[in-house]
Amino acid sequence: MQNAPSPTIHVVHDDLPAGLSFANGAVAIDTETTGLSLETDKLCLVQVGDGEGNAWLVKFDVASGTPNYSAPNLRAVLENPRITKLFHYGRFDMAMLQKHLGLADIAPVFCTKIASKLVRPHAGKHNLRTLVQEYTGITLDKTEQMSNWAAPTLTESQIAYAASDVLYLHTLMAKLAEQAAEQNLTAVLDQALRFLHTRVEMDLLGLPESDLFGHH
Ligand code: MN
Repeated sequence: MQNAPSPTIHVVHDDLPAGLSFANGAVAIDTETTGLSLETDKLCLVQVGDGEGNAWLVKFDVASGTPNYSAPNLRAVLENPRITKLFHYGRFDMAMLQKHLGLADIAPVFCTKIASKLVRPHAGKHNLRTLVQEYTGITLDKTEQMSNWAAPTLTESQIAYAASDVLYLHTLMAKLAEQAAEQNLTAVLDQALRFLHTRVEMDLLGLPESDLFGHH
């Protein structure tokens, strides 16, 4: 088991600081919301990780009833075509971010859940906790998963949990992309990740879950 890195966590309000750079060309992104509905739930927190031990938690003031989602610095990162956005189950985070920040798309992206399902099709579980455990030996604490992210002040435990969701995605991407290459699945993974944009758009249009490629 490798040692857990000690992250530097920056809690910031309404936006990322100006002038951040992501030297490795990839930024890990996660969101915390009031719930799972794209129609009614609010975006409370956006976690941003640089893959070098820094996590920024961008907190939106949902408790006020009028959160300010203009976030120009965060928006610039999400729209930067030279920075790959890493998600785990990006389908949900991308839809939430696109809706609340008013973005047409977020690209390019990598989703560790999609990659895991493609390269480890017979693995029982593709959740983040399982992948982090398997690839890094680190056990994530998920006890805050359902906590109140709209609270005016986050607890230390919420902050640690939220940051942990963006601290390992760079490592997972590297390992999963390597496995995809070993299985000659790089192009298929690439195409699946491109379809993710369409799936997100369908979700935002309220189209049903049905498999477009299924027989029925
Ligand atoms: Mn999360």
